[in-house]
Amino acid sequence: MSTDARPNIRAPRGTEISCKGWVQEAALRMLMNNLDNEVAEAPEKLVVYGGTGKAARSWPDYHRIVASLRDLGDDETLLVQSGRPVGIFRSHADAPRVLLANSLLVPKWATWEEHHRLEAMGLTMFGQMTAGSWIYIGTQGILQGTYETFAACGRTHFGGDLSGKFVLTGGLGGMGGAQPLAATMAGGAILCVEVDPDRIQRRLDHRYLMKATRDLDEALAWIEAATAKGEALSVGLEGNCAEVLPELVRRGVTPDVVTDQTSAHDPLVGYVPDGLDLAEAAALRESDPEGYIQRSKAAMAKHVAAMRAMQKAGAVAFDYGNNIRAFAVEAGVEDAFEIKGFIPEYIRPLFCEGKGPFRWAALSGDPEDIYATDRAILELFPDNEHLRKWITMAGEQVAWQGLPARICWLGYGERVKAGLRFNEMVKSGELKAPVVIGRDHLDCGSVASPNRETEAMKDGSDAIADWPILNAMINTACGASWVSVHHGGGVGMGYSIHAGMVVVADGSEAAQRRLERVLTSDPGMGVVRHVDAGYEEANRFVQGTDVKIPGVTV
Ligand code: NAD
Repeated sequence: MSTDARPNIRAPRGTEISCKGWVQEAALRMLMNNLDNEVAEAPEKLVVYGGTGKAARSWPDYHRIVASLRDLGDDETLLVQSGRPVGIFRSHADAPRVLLANSLLVPKWATWEEHHRLEAMGLTMFGQMTAGSWIYIGTQGILQGTYETFAACGRTHFGGDLSGKFVLTGGLGGMGGAQPLAATMAGGAILCVEVDPDRIQRRLDHRYLMKATRDLDEALAWIEAATAKGEALSVGLEGNCAEVLPELVRRGVTPDVVTDQTSAHDPLVGYVPDGLDLAEAAALRESDPEGYIQRSKAAMAKHVAAMRAMQKAGAVAFDYGNNIRAFAVEAGVEDAFEIKGFIPEYIRPLFCEGKGPFRWAALSGDPEDIYATDRAILELFPDNEHLRKWITMAGEQVAWQGLPARICWLGYGERVKAGLRFNEMVKSGELKAPVVIGRDHLDCGSVASPNRETEAMKDGSDAIADWPILNAMINTACGASWVSVHHGGGVGMGYSIHAGMVVVADGSEAAQRRLERVLTSDPGMGVVRHVDAGYEEANRFVQGTDVKIPGVTV
């Protein structure tokens, strides 16, 4: 297959399957869905999102995975090593049909330089989080998490939502592209600085962004008018954050909130240094990667220094999980970590209750199936107003990308209820085909990422990476449909180890048992992790549950 034309991959819809069972078919459809033109950022390069996050290592590997899944028995397990299918073993019906390991390196070698060297030799790929684990569902996936974060930011700092507030950010990529819609859902007026006009256009096309300009004055005038009237607005500004933010500081413009989601986790194939247009950046990346990385880090330093200046002038500043602070420190911004991460600031109390981004996709391809599950969620949790608001807004405002899908944050006890209900709906024919259930790796109990998910843990256990491995092992033991262990997602090489899981609700009794186990143990790991780290919220929560923790509840 050509590597420069968009490939037009589209997951099959409906109830006809080309694999030997629904679980294999689900893996096949979700792999294909990750690479659907509507879903992936650069499907021609197998890149799904998050800089260079890929679904398969190469096109021959992709085709071999597809063929393997089609041939895979109900008692077999396919092993995928960084996007390459490397073996198929006899396991058993309740075992995962696929086990994946992505981008893992021995810790002393765990650098981008080593990764790029090995990638160039064809030995590995960057799996990001849900790219290499085949459960990316487009920008909606992050939309709800971003909405939760902006909503929590409004509650924490402004005693309500973000109405009348000016939010400034960077990056309109696969994840960052959720920011404009999430901020307007939370009532704010957001200015998103993005260097790539195609990305801006994509967000306009998908209705995630309201308007765009290349003119900073025009953008600021729009924002000012919106904040004055308390109106929600999103504006894309074509520009480079390392130029625009320092310019705003020079002008004395201070937003109410400043954050960033440029792909700073990768200083070579992610962040774009100032002073270069996209073509010049691409040329320099090829001709002088070392020089590029230096310029990139220097640009991040300017960018973060400007965020710090805004923070000192009164803006609420938070890091949004792209590791920009670490590179800024390397390039001389010593106080970069005065900007706190969004997890300790807003998300950790949710993690203590096993809450995190629960998501599902309808393999029928019919949006009606998702609307039916939306109604089921509202019936299951009638007292959760926040959830009601989200599900209603998502139903009205989220454009489908690829297979229809939904996400919402549910905690321990809640996920299993939802999963079992969906399985019943498949069994009864209320849904036209099975549903896959998974989650992001931005999660409560499956990630070790000291600059993000596990930043500032109460007991200092930020860098302990046993937890994601235990998570993957328990999900495997419990019968998840596919399980993955990754390195470097979100924040880049050397900075994170994390695990993913997907479980299929195909309406069968066997699926019911698997769902019950997996959707209990997976969020349960989040509760256990936070009890172990000494969080009072987690301790209080666990007392009312059946989670067994030796020495604590049993
Ligand atoms: P992406 O690569 O799809 O998009 C990044 C965007 O940043 C691109 O559109 C790029 O043109 C733009 N960009 C790069 N340098 C720029 C600059 N100097 N000025 C303006 N724009 C610039 O990546 P993504 O999937 O959107 O992820 C963004 C970042 O967020 C990544 O670092 C990712 O690891 C991280 N991330 C955060 C979360 C979270 O929940 N907070 C989750 C996943 C990933």
